Amino acid sequence: MFQFFNDDQKMLQKLVKEFAEQEIAPHAAEWDEKDHCPVEMWPTFGQMGFFGIFVPAQYGGPGLGLTERAIVLEEISRHSAGLGIAIMTHDLAIASILNFGTEEQKLKYLPQLISGEKVGGLSVTEPSGGSDFANQSTTIDQTEEGFLINGRKCFITNSHIAQINVITGTSGVNEKGRKILSAVIVPEGTPGWAAGRKENKLGLRGSITGDIVCTDVKVPADCIIGAVGDGAKIAMHTIGHFGRSGMAAIATGVIRACRDESVKFAKDRVVYGKPISSLQAIQFIVSANEVDLSAAHAMLFNATAIYDRGETCIQDMAAVKVFASEAAANASKRTIDLMGGYGIINEYPVGRYLRDSMAIIPSGGTSHIMAVIIAGNLCR
Ligand SMILES: Cc1cc2nc3c(=O)[nH]c(=O)nc-3n(C[C@H](O)[C@H](O)[C@H](O)COP(=O)(O)OP(=O)(O)OC[C@H]3O[C@@H](n4cnc5c(N)ncnc54)[C@H](O)[C@@H]3O)c2cc1C
Repeated sequence: MFQFFNDDQKMLQKLVKEFAEQEIAPHAAEWDEKDHCPVEMWPTFGQMGFFGIFVPAQYGGPGLGLTERAIVLEEISRHSAGLGIAIMTHDLAIASILNFGTEEQKLKYLPQLISGEKVGGLSVTEPSGGSDFANQSTTIDQTEEGFLINGRKCFITNSHIAQINVITGTSGVNEKGRKILSAVIVPEGTPGWAAGRKENKLGLRGSITGDIVCTDVKVPADCIIGAVGDGAKIAMHTIGHFGRSGMAAIATGVIRACRDESVKFAKDRVVYGKPISSLQAIQFIVSANEVDLSAAHAMLFNATAIYDRGETCIQDMAAVKVFASEAAANASKRTIDLMGGYGIINEYPVGRYLRDSMAIIPSGGTSHIMAVIIAGNLCR
């Protein structure tokens, strides 16, 4: 356990750990195999306090922080990283509205999302490239009645299940000829909003990822989040803090799963008449998994603590996102190696951990983009 948690955080971790062992672990392999997102459990997750844990009480949340959110996501993702990203992304709609929305928007949308009555999503990425985020082709045009949205988004988590969607798009160009982005809320049932192609993913299965197609989607003027032109700021703040700390927590859950599996298998597997844990090469693997887990915890809870005391920390979030996601892939590969032939048998979960880690790497921004952010910050 991470040593610096206070008593409330330790209690939260214990509660979520027990819930995850009972309600998530037994289904994780099946959700992965069938690519089933357990949306039927959303109200239960809402009752457990998994959604919007950082939201103040007046909007239906417990008023905690990104540290508590990371604790929850790690415990869930220790068993199902696919479910982890579905819950994580639901929170991105919540964070966009909480941090940049009007009082009316917060009172209208947050309680339904926090209770799990509705599912949320955030649509930013387009076929032209998620990394080239400023160059969006989706248009959000201001009209006399409100806003008109046209375009296509791809790789959108919760695409086929989200009822309250935040979407970004271009609302014209500024005096330097650069696109200005806006963010709007598209309420459930708005005509012209449709989920398109659903991806058949390598990993993070059990979360739904797909296209969103907007054809003359009309939303009233009060659906804009912030002002016209605030879209880049909203998306960067939300993905940069809530998205990346969330993906890092999910990756940390996968590293922990690898650490636990490597210890268990090393102690159980007997070769030459003794457990393989007595072999130095095997000890190196167990030890490397533990060191990566400790480092991921330290970086993750350092970054969330900075945010929770009221500071932005895009660089720290990028650093833990790249470290934890790459470490999860390394830990999964090492653990498969440790298990010999058993490592590639699907009865064991380690193959899923490797597939999940590879899908975690691009989600919320690739490792290359994290490096660009870190170096850009240091060298500016
Ligand atoms: C499982 C999953 C869930 C996702 N969920 C969401 C979601 O809910 N909402 C959403 O909006 N998006 C979502 N995404 C999209 C994700 O944010 C993008 O996949 C990511 O930003 C990368 O964009 P891309 O896939 O278009 O790759 P590209 O941008 O096309 O990049 C291709 C390659 O070029 C490299 N590259 C690009 N630019 C640079 C550069 N400047 N320097 C060095 N290398 C560079 C990249 O690192 C990568 O290796 C999700 C993705 C996945 C995989």
